[in-house]
Amino acid sequence: MRYYGWKTELVRVVLPLAAAAVFATAFDLGVWPVFIVAAVICTWLLWQLQRLSDWLYRGLGTEPPEAIGMWGQIFDTIYDMQKHASGDRDQLQAIIDYLHSSFASMSDAVVMLDRHGNIEWCNDAAMDLLGLRRDEDVGLQLLNLVRNPNFVAYYEAEKYAMPFEMASPVNSEIQLSLSISFFAEGNRLLFARDVTRTHRLEKMRKDFVANVSHELRTPLTVINGYLETFSEHGGDNPRWDRAIDQMLRQSRRIHPLIQDLMLLSRLESVPQASEHEVMRIRPLMEMVREEALAAAKGNRQIDIECDDAIALKGQATEIRSALSNLAVNAARYTAEDDRIVLRWYQDDSHGVLEVQDSGIGIEPQYIPRLTERFYRVDQSRSLDTGGTGLGLAIVKHVLLRHRAEMKISSQPGHGSTFSCLFPRSLITRVN
Ligand code: ADP
Repeated sequence: MRYYGWKTELVRVVLPLAAAAVFATAFDLGVWPVFIVAAVICTWLLWQLQRLSDWLYRGLGTEPPEAIGMWGQIFDTIYDMQKHASGDRDQLQAIIDYLHSSFASMSDAVVMLDRHGNIEWCNDAAMDLLGLRRDEDVGLQLLNLVRNPNFVAYYEAEKYAMPFEMASPVNSEIQLSLSISFFAEGNRLLFARDVTRTHRLEKMRKDFVANVSHELRTPLTVINGYLETFSEHGGDNPRWDRAIDQMLRQSRRIHPLIQDLMLLSRLESVPQASEHEVMRIRPLMEMVREEALAAAKGNRQIDIECDDAIALKGQATEIRSALSNLAVNAARYTAEDDRIVLRWYQDDSHGVLEVQDSGIGIEPQYIPRLTERFYRVDQSRSLDTGGTGLGLAIVKHVLLRHRAEMKISSQPGHGSTFSCLFPRSLITRVN
Protein backbone atom coordinates (compact mmCIF):
# COMPACT_ATOMS: atom_id res chain seq x y z
CA MET A 1 0.00 0.00 0.00
CA ARG A 2 1.36 3.41 -0.94
CA TYR A 3 2.00 5.71 2.02
CA TYR A 4 0.52 9.21 1.88
CA GLY A 5 2.27 11.72 4.15
CA TRP A 6 1.03 15.13 5.25
CA LYS A 7 2.89 16.82 2.39
CA THR A 8 0.63 15.23 -0.26
CA GLU A 9 -2.44 16.41 1.65
CA LEU A 10 -0.94 19.87 2.02
CA VAL A 11 -0.40 20.04 -1.73
CA ARG A 12 -4.04 18.96 -2.22
CA VAL A 13 -5.18 21.93 -0.10
CA VAL A 14 -2.64 24.55 -1.06
CA LEU A 15 -2.74 24.01 -4.86
CA PRO A 16 -6.47 24.79 -5.34
CA LEU A 17 -6.17 27.76 -2.97
CA ALA A 18 -3.16 29.10 -4.88
CA ALA A 19 -4.96 28.58 -8.22
CA ALA A 20 -8.00 30.43 -6.85
CA ALA A 21 -5.78 33.28 -5.62
CA VAL A 22 -4.10 33.58 -9.09
CA PHE A 23 -7.49 33.46 -10.81
CA ALA A 24 -8.89 36.13 -8.44
CA THR A 25 -5.90 38.41 -9.00
CA ALA A 26 -5.97 37.94 -12.81
CA PHE A 27 -9.62 38.88 -13.07
CA ASP A 28 -9.67 41.24 -10.06
CA LEU A 29 -12.36 39.26 -8.29
CA GLY A 30 -11.30 39.98 -4.68
CA VAL A 31 -11.11 37.13 -2.11
CA TRP A 32 -14.25 35.33 -3.26
CA PRO A 33 -12.63 32.60 -5.41
CA VAL A 34 -10.21 31.73 -2.55
CA PHE A 35 -13.09 31.73 -0.07
CA ILE A 36 -15.20 29.46 -2.29
CA VAL A 37 -12.33 26.98 -2.85
CA ALA A 38 -11.61 26.95 0.95
CA ALA A 39 -15.29 26.27 1.60
CA VAL A 40 -15.26 23.39 -0.94
CA ILE A 41 -12.14 21.90 0.72
CA CYS A 42 -13.74 22.18 4.20
CA THR A 43 -16.94 20.54 2.95
CA TRP A 44 -14.93 17.72 1.40
CA LEU A 45 -13.06 17.20 4.67
CA LEU A 46 -16.31 17.19 6.66
CA TRP A 47 -17.80 14.71 4.20
CA GLN A 48 -14.83 12.37 4.69
CA LEU A 49 -15.27 12.65 8.48
CA GLN A 50 -18.95 11.90 8.10
CA ARG A 51 -18.16 8.76 6.02
CA LEU A 52 -15.61 7.63 8.60
CA SER A 53 -18.10 8.14 11.40
CA ASP A 54 -20.87 6.31 9.46
CA TRP A 55 -18.60 3.43 8.66
CA LEU A 56 -17.41 3.04 12.26
CA TYR A 57 -21.00 3.30 13.42
CA ARG A 58 -22.11 0.52 11.02
CA GLY A 59 -19.69 -1.72 12.89
CA LEU A 60 -16.99 -4.21 12.24
CA GLY A 61 -16.88 -6.38 9.21
CA THR A 62 -18.31 -3.95 6.61
CA GLU A 63 -16.11 -2.80 3.77
CA PRO A 64 -14.53 0.67 4.28
CA PRO A 65 -15.67 3.57 2.01
CA GLU A 66 -13.52 4.31 -1.03
CA ALA A 67 -11.40 7.40 -0.60
CA ILE A 68 -8.26 8.95 -1.97
CA GLY A 69 -5.02 10.05 -0.31
CA MET A 70 -4.65 10.17 3.42
CA TRP A 71 -8.34 9.49 3.98
CA GLY A 72 -8.20 6.29 2.00
CA GLN A 73 -5.12 5.38 3.98
CA ILE A 74 -6.93 6.05 7.28
CA PHE A 75 -9.91 3.91 6.21
CA ASP A 76 -7.69 1.03 5.09
CA THR A 77 -5.52 1.11 8.21
CA ILE A 78 -8.55 1.05 10.52
CA TYR A 79 -10.02 -1.75 8.42
CA ASP A 80 -6.80 -3.79 8.74
CA MET A 81 -6.67 -3.19 12.51
CA GLN A 82 -10.28 -4.30 12.82
CA LYS A 83 -9.54 -7.47 10.87
CA HIS A 84 -6.54 -8.22 13.12
CA ALA A 85 -8.51 -7.55 16.31
CA SER A 86 -11.35 -9.71 15.16
CA GLY A 87 -8.88 -12.50 14.26
CA ASP A 88 -7.37 -12.26 17.77
CA ARG A 89 -10.83 -12.22 19.29
CA ASP A 90 -11.86 -15.29 17.31
CA GLN A 91 -8.72 -17.04 18.47
CA LEU A 92 -9.42 -16.13 22.12
CA GLN A 93 -13.03 -17.19 21.75
CA ALA A 94 -11.86 -20.50 20.28
CA ILE A 95 -9.60 -21.04 23.31
CA ILE A 96 -12.44 -20.14 25.71
CA ASP A 97 -14.83 -22.46 23.82
CA TYR A 98 -12.23 -25.23 23.94
CA LEU A 99 -11.76 -24.80 27.71
CA HIS A 100 -15.50 -24.61 28.29
CA SER A 101 -16.15 -27.73 26.25
CA SER A 102 -13.38 -29.64 28.05
CA PHE A 103 -14.72 -28.50 31.46
CA ALA A 104 -18.26 -29.24 30.29
CA SER A 105 -17.37 -32.82 29.42
CA MET A 106 -15.78 -33.47 32.83
CA SER A 107 -17.56 -35.77 35.26
CA ASP A 108 -16.39 -33.51 38.09
CA ALA A 109 -18.42 -30.39 38.77
CA VAL A 110 -16.65 -27.14 37.86
CA VAL A 111 -17.90 -23.74 38.98
CA MET A 112 -16.19 -20.45 38.15
CA LEU A 113 -16.78 -17.67 40.65
CA ASP A 114 -15.91 -13.99 40.38
CA ARG A 115 -14.16 -12.19 43.21
CA HIS A 116 -17.46 -11.44 44.93
CA GLY A 117 -18.39 -15.14 45.00
CA ASN A 118 -20.96 -14.83 42.20
CA ILE A 119 -21.29 -17.71 39.74
CA GLU A 120 -19.81 -16.90 36.33
CA TRP A 121 -20.11 -20.30 34.72
CA CYS A 122 -20.66 -23.93 35.66
CA ASN A 123 -20.64 -27.23 33.76
CA ASP A 124 -23.32 -29.93 33.47
CA ALA A 125 -21.88 -31.98 36.34
CA ALA A 126 -22.26 -28.93 38.65
CA MET A 127 -25.95 -28.95 37.82
CA ASP A 128 -26.22 -32.68 38.61
CA LEU A 129 -24.04 -32.73 41.72
CA LEU A 130 -24.63 -29.30 43.25
CA GLY A 131 -28.07 -28.54 41.86
CA LEU A 132 -26.98 -25.34 40.10
CA ARG A 133 -28.84 -24.08 37.01
CA ARG A 134 -26.43 -22.74 34.43
CA ASP A 135 -28.67 -20.09 32.89
CA GLU A 136 -30.68 -18.96 35.90
CA ASP A 137 -27.91 -19.02 38.53
CA VAL A 138 -25.21 -17.08 36.68
CA GLY A 139 -24.55 -13.87 38.62
CA LEU A 140 -25.98 -15.27 41.88
CA GLN A 141 -23.98 -15.82 45.07
CA LEU A 142 -22.85 -19.45 45.36
CA LEU A 143 -23.38 -19.37 49.12
CA ASN A 144 -27.05 -18.54 48.61
CA LEU A 145 -27.42 -21.73 46.60
CA VAL A 146 -25.13 -24.17 48.44
CA ARG A 147 -26.08 -23.51 52.04
CA ASN A 148 -24.44 -26.36 53.98
CA PRO A 149 -23.16 -24.44 57.07
CA ASN A 150 -19.89 -26.39 57.17
CA PHE A 151 -19.29 -25.64 53.49
CA VAL A 152 -20.04 -21.95 54.11
CA ALA A 153 -17.47 -21.95 56.94
CA TYR A 154 -14.91 -23.74 54.70
CA TYR A 155 -15.55 -21.31 51.83
CA GLU A 156 -15.25 -18.23 54.01
CA ALA A 157 -12.16 -19.39 55.91
CA GLU A 158 -10.28 -19.43 52.56
CA LYS A 159 -7.98 -22.23 53.73
CA TYR A 160 -8.24 -24.53 50.76
CA ALA A 161 -5.15 -26.71 51.24
CA MET A 162 -7.36 -29.68 52.16
CA PRO A 163 -10.55 -30.64 50.28
CA PHE A 164 -13.91 -30.47 52.02
CA GLU A 165 -16.38 -33.38 52.10
CA MET A 166 -20.13 -33.11 52.26
CA ALA A 167 -23.29 -34.80 50.99
CA SER A 168 -24.62 -33.50 47.68
CA PRO A 169 -27.42 -30.93 48.16
CA VAL A 170 -29.30 -32.75 45.36
CA ASN A 171 -29.02 -36.28 46.71
CA SER A 172 -27.81 -37.01 50.23
CA GLU A 173 -26.64 -40.48 49.10
CA ILE A 174 -23.93 -38.86 47.01
CA GLN A 175 -20.81 -37.84 48.88
CA LEU A 176 -18.79 -34.98 47.39
CA SER A 177 -15.22 -33.87 47.84
CA LEU A 178 -14.91 -30.15 47.08
CA SER A 179 -11.74 -28.23 46.43
CA ILE A 180 -11.37 -24.55 45.71
CA SER A 181 -8.48 -22.57 44.25
CA PHE A 182 -7.96 -18.91 43.55
CA PHE A 183 -7.12 -17.62 40.08
CA ALA A 184 -6.76 -14.18 38.45
CA GLU A 185 -7.56 -11.45 40.99
CA GLY A 186 -9.57 -13.16 43.70
CA ASN A 187 -11.69 -15.28 41.36
CA ARG A 188 -12.28 -18.85 42.51
CA LEU A 189 -12.55 -22.16 40.75
CA LEU A 190 -14.52 -24.84 42.57
CA PHE A 191 -14.24 -28.54 41.75
CA ALA A 192 -16.61 -31.10 43.24
CA ARG A 193 -15.94 -34.82 42.82
CA ASP A 194 -18.27 -37.69 43.51
CA VAL A 195 -16.44 -39.81 46.13
CA THR A 196 -19.42 -41.93 47.15
CA ARG A 197 -17.64 -45.16 46.22
CA THR A 198 -14.46 -44.36 48.16
CA HIS A 199 -16.56 -43.15 51.05
CA ARG A 200 -18.55 -46.37 51.05
CA LEU A 201 -15.38 -48.47 50.93
CA GLU A 202 -13.91 -46.45 53.78
CA LYS A 203 -17.07 -47.01 55.81
CA MET A 204 -16.96 -50.73 55.00
CA ARG A 205 -13.36 -50.85 56.18
CA LYS A 206 -14.24 -49.11 59.44
CA ASP A 207 -17.25 -51.35 60.02
CA PHE A 208 -15.21 -54.43 59.21
CA VAL A 209 -12.49 -53.55 61.72
CA ALA A 210 -15.09 -52.63 64.35
CA ASN A 211 -17.02 -55.88 63.81
CA VAL A 212 -13.97 -58.14 63.68
CA SER A 213 -12.55 -56.70 66.87
CA HIS A 214 -15.91 -56.98 68.57
CA GLU A 215 -16.42 -60.59 67.42
CA LEU A 216 -12.91 -61.60 68.46
CA ARG A 217 -13.23 -60.21 71.94
CA THR A 218 -15.52 -62.87 73.43
CA PRO A 219 -13.73 -66.01 72.13
CA LEU A 220 -10.42 -64.50 73.19
CA THR A 221 -11.69 -63.79 76.69
CA VAL A 222 -12.79 -67.43 77.00
CA ILE A 223 -9.48 -68.79 75.66
CA ASN A 224 -7.58 -66.45 77.92
CA GLY A 225 -9.63 -67.51 80.94
CA TYR A 226 -8.96 -71.23 80.37
CA LEU A 227 -5.29 -70.59 79.73
CA GLU A 228 -5.04 -68.64 83.01
CA THR A 229 -6.67 -71.56 84.84
CA PHE A 230 -4.36 -74.13 83.20
CA SER A 231 -1.36 -72.00 83.95
CA GLU A 232 -2.34 -71.50 87.62
CA HIS A 233 -2.94 -75.18 88.28
CA GLY A 234 0.03 -76.46 86.35
CA GLY A 235 0.31 -79.93 84.91
CA ASP A 236 2.44 -83.04 85.08
CA ASN A 237 4.13 -82.38 81.81
CA PRO A 238 6.65 -79.49 81.74
CA ARG A 239 6.39 -79.34 77.91
CA TRP A 240 2.69 -78.51 78.24
CA ASP A 241 3.41 -75.93 80.93
CA ARG A 242 5.79 -74.14 78.59
CA ALA A 243 3.28 -74.26 75.71
CA ILE A 244 0.47 -72.95 77.90
CA ASP A 245 2.72 -70.18 79.15
CA GLN A 246 3.53 -69.10 75.60
CA MET A 247 -0.13 -69.29 74.52
CA LEU A 248 -1.07 -67.14 77.50
CA ARG A 249 1.56 -64.53 76.66
CA GLN A 250 0.43 -64.34 73.03
CA SER A 251 -3.24 -64.11 73.95
CA ARG A 252 -2.44 -61.32 76.43
CA ARG A 253 -0.83 -59.39 73.55
CA ILE A 254 -3.96 -59.67 71.44
CA HIS A 255 -6.24 -58.32 74.14
CA PRO A 256 -4.91 -54.71 74.18
CA LEU A 257 -4.70 -54.83 70.38
CA ILE A 258 -8.42 -55.53 70.16
CA GLN A 259 -9.15 -52.85 72.77
CA ASP A 260 -7.17 -50.32 70.74
CA LEU A 261 -8.82 -51.33 67.44
CA MET A 262 -12.25 -50.93 69.01
CA LEU A 263 -11.33 -47.58 70.48
CA LEU A 264 -10.03 -46.37 67.08
CA SER A 265 -13.24 -47.51 65.39
CA ARG A 266 -15.28 -45.65 67.96
CA LEU A 267 -13.20 -42.51 67.49
CA GLU A 268 -13.64 -42.69 63.73
CA SER A 269 -17.38 -43.22 63.83
CA VAL A 270 -18.22 -39.76 65.24
CA PRO A 271 -16.22 -36.91 63.73
CA GLN A 272 -16.41 -34.30 66.50
CA ALA A 273 -15.98 -34.81 70.24
CA SER A 274 -18.38 -33.19 72.67
CA GLU A 275 -16.77 -30.11 74.18
CA HIS A 276 -18.98 -29.74 77.21
CA GLU A 277 -16.88 -31.49 79.82
CA VAL A 278 -14.41 -29.24 81.61
CA MET A 279 -11.36 -31.24 82.66
CA ARG A 280 -8.82 -30.29 85.24
CA ILE A 281 -5.58 -31.68 83.95
CA ARG A 282 -3.63 -32.39 87.17
CA PRO A 283 -5.79 -35.35 88.38
CA LEU A 284 -5.63 -36.75 84.85
CA MET A 285 -1.84 -36.49 84.89
CA GLU A 286 -1.58 -38.15 88.27
CA MET A 287 -3.57 -41.16 87.04
CA VAL A 288 -1.55 -41.36 83.86
CA ARG A 289 1.72 -41.15 85.81
CA GLU A 290 0.76 -44.34 87.67
CA GLU A 291 -0.03 -46.12 84.40
CA ALA A 292 3.29 -45.05 82.90
CA LEU A 293 5.24 -46.18 85.97
CA ALA A 294 3.48 -49.56 85.79
CA ALA A 295 4.30 -49.92 82.07
CA ALA A 296 7.99 -49.04 82.52
CA LYS A 297 10.48 -51.82 82.93
CA GLY A 298 12.40 -50.28 85.81
CA ASN A 299 12.47 -46.91 87.50
CA ARG A 300 11.50 -43.60 85.85
CA GLN A 301 11.33 -40.10 87.23
CA ILE A 302 7.98 -38.67 86.13
CA ASP A 303 7.36 -34.99 86.94
CA ILE A 304 4.18 -33.02 86.51
CA GLU A 305 4.27 -29.33 85.49
CA CYS A 306 0.67 -28.23 85.34
CA ASP A 307 -0.92 -24.78 85.12
CA ASP A 308 -3.89 -25.32 87.45
CA ALA A 309 -5.50 -22.03 86.47
CA ILE A 310 -6.61 -23.43 83.12
CA ALA A 311 -8.77 -26.42 82.23
CA LEU A 312 -9.60 -28.12 78.95
CA LYS A 313 -13.05 -28.54 77.41
CA GLY A 314 -13.56 -31.89 75.69
CA GLN A 315 -14.11 -35.60 76.12
CA ALA A 316 -12.31 -36.60 79.34
CA THR A 317 -12.02 -40.33 78.52
CA GLU A 318 -10.55 -39.58 75.11
CA ILE A 319 -8.07 -37.00 76.40
CA ARG A 320 -7.05 -39.36 79.14
CA SER A 321 -6.50 -42.13 76.61
CA ALA A 322 -4.35 -39.85 74.43
CA LEU A 323 -2.26 -38.63 77.34
CA SER A 324 -1.92 -42.17 78.65
CA ASN A 325 -0.66 -43.42 75.26
CA LEU A 326 1.95 -40.67 75.12
CA ALA A 327 3.08 -41.19 78.72
CA VAL A 328 3.22 -44.99 78.42
CA ASN A 329 5.24 -44.61 75.20
CA ALA A 330 7.59 -42.24 77.02
CA ALA A 331 8.01 -44.86 79.76
CA ARG A 332 8.63 -47.63 77.21
CA TYR A 333 11.14 -45.77 75.12
CA THR A 334 13.25 -44.54 78.02
CA ALA A 335 15.79 -46.37 80.13
CA GLU A 336 16.30 -46.79 83.86
CA ASP A 337 16.16 -43.46 85.80
CA ASP A 338 15.39 -41.40 82.69
CA ARG A 339 13.21 -38.35 83.23
CA ILE A 340 9.69 -37.82 81.86
CA VAL A 341 7.74 -34.56 82.22
CA LEU A 342 3.97 -34.25 81.81
CA ARG A 343 3.20 -30.60 81.05
CA TRP A 344 0.05 -28.48 80.69
CA TYR A 345 0.34 -24.78 79.87
CA GLN A 346 -1.00 -22.07 77.62
CA ASP A 347 0.95 -20.21 74.93
CA ASP A 348 -0.14 -17.32 72.68
CA SER A 349 -2.46 -19.39 70.56
CA HIS A 350 -2.93 -22.82 72.16
CA GLY A 351 -3.42 -24.87 75.26
CA VAL A 352 -0.51 -27.32 75.21
CA LEU A 353 -0.56 -30.81 76.68
CA GLU A 354 2.94 -32.17 76.44
CA VAL A 355 4.92 -35.29 77.25
CA GLN A 356 8.67 -34.91 77.20
CA ASP A 357 11.16 -37.69 77.76
CA SER A 358 14.90 -38.06 77.83
CA GLY A 359 14.78 -41.47 76.12
CA ILE A 360 16.08 -43.00 72.91
CA GLY A 361 14.52 -40.36 70.59
CA ILE A 362 13.45 -40.81 66.97
CA GLU A 363 15.34 -40.18 63.71
CA PRO A 364 13.73 -37.22 61.86
CA GLN A 365 12.83 -39.28 58.74
CA TYR A 366 10.51 -41.52 60.80
CA ILE A 367 8.56 -38.72 62.49
CA PRO A 368 5.99 -37.99 59.70
CA ARG A 369 4.87 -41.67 59.67
CA LEU A 370 4.56 -42.26 63.41
CA THR A 371 0.78 -41.72 63.55
CA GLU A 372 0.11 -44.36 60.86
CA ARG A 373 -1.52 -47.51 62.16
CA PHE A 374 1.00 -50.23 63.04
CA TYR A 375 3.92 -48.06 62.00
CA ARG A 376 6.91 -48.79 64.13
CA VAL A 377 10.35 -47.29 63.88
CA ASP A 378 11.94 -50.55 64.89
CA GLN A 379 9.66 -53.58 64.63
CA SER A 380 11.58 -55.84 66.99
CA ARG A 381 12.04 -53.14 69.61
CA SER A 382 8.34 -52.26 69.70
CA LEU A 383 7.32 -55.87 70.06
CA ASP A 384 9.64 -56.07 73.08
CA THR A 385 7.96 -53.07 74.66
CA GLY A 386 4.51 -54.62 74.30
CA GLY A 387 3.02 -51.81 72.21
CA THR A 388 0.14 -52.42 69.81
CA GLY A 389 1.37 -50.02 67.12
CA LEU A 390 -1.89 -48.09 67.41
CA GLY A 391 -1.06 -45.73 70.28
CA LEU A 392 -0.14 -42.64 68.23
CA ALA A 393 -2.93 -43.30 65.71
CA ILE A 394 -5.36 -43.11 68.64
CA VAL A 395 -3.73 -39.89 69.86
CA LYS A 396 -4.05 -38.38 66.38
CA HIS A 397 -7.75 -39.24 66.14
CA VAL A 398 -8.52 -37.91 69.60
CA LEU A 399 -6.79 -34.65 68.69
CA LEU A 400 -8.57 -34.41 65.33
CA ARG A 401 -11.87 -34.72 67.12
CA HIS A 402 -10.87 -31.81 69.38
CA ARG A 403 -9.63 -29.65 66.48
CA ALA A 404 -6.14 -30.05 67.94
CA GLU A 405 -2.89 -31.10 66.33
CA MET A 406 0.24 -32.91 67.41
CA LYS A 407 3.78 -31.61 67.12
CA ILE A 408 6.64 -34.07 67.55
CA SER A 409 10.19 -32.95 68.13
CA SER A 410 12.94 -35.39 68.86
CA GLN A 411 16.65 -35.80 69.01
CA PRO A 412 17.96 -39.35 68.62
CA GLY A 413 19.74 -40.37 71.80
CA HIS A 414 18.45 -37.37 73.77
CA GLY A 415 14.70 -37.76 73.91
CA SER A 416 11.40 -36.67 72.40
CA THR A 417 8.61 -34.17 73.03
CA PHE A 418 5.05 -34.88 71.92
CA SER A 419 2.96 -31.69 72.14
CA CYS A 420 -0.82 -31.63 71.68
CA LEU A 421 -1.90 -28.15 70.61
CA PHE A 422 -5.53 -27.41 71.51
CA PRO A 423 -7.31 -24.35 70.09
CA ARG A 424 -7.80 -21.52 72.58
CA SER A 425 -11.55 -21.90 72.33
CA LEU A 426 -11.20 -25.19 74.27
CA ILE A 427 -9.27 -23.59 77.10
CA THR A 428 -11.12 -22.18 80.07
CA ARG A 429 -9.95 -20.47 83.24
CA VAL A 430 -10.80 -22.13 86.55
CA ASN A 431 -10.18 -21.00 90.12
P1 ADP B 1 3.71 -48.68 69.74
O1 ADP B 1 2.60 -49.42 70.36
O2 ADP B 1 4.58 -49.49 68.87
O3 ADP B 1 4.45 -47.86 70.74
P2 ADP B 1 2.72 -46.16 68.82
O4 ADP B 1 1.76 -45.79 67.75
O5 ADP B 1 2.41 -45.73 70.20
O6 ADP B 1 2.96 -47.70 68.73
O7 ADP B 1 4.13 -45.55 68.42
C1 ADP B 1 4.62 -45.74 67.10
C2 ADP B 1 6.11 -45.80 67.11
O8 ADP B 1 6.62 -44.51 67.46
C3 ADP B 1 6.68 -46.72 68.15
O9 ADP B 1 6.76 -48.04 67.66
C4 ADP B 1 8.04 -46.13 68.42
O10 ADP B 1 8.96 -46.59 67.45
C5 ADP B 1 7.84 -44.64 68.19
N1 ADP B 1 7.68 -43.90 69.47
C6 ADP B 1 6.52 -43.53 70.04
N2 ADP B 1 6.74 -42.81 71.16
C7 ADP B 1 8.07 -42.73 71.30
C8 ADP B 1 8.94 -42.11 72.27
N3 ADP B 1 8.48 -41.43 73.31
N4 ADP B 1 10.28 -42.21 72.08
C9 ADP B 1 10.77 -42.88 71.01
N5 ADP B 1 10.01 -43.50 70.05
C10 ADP B 1 8.68 -43.40 70.19
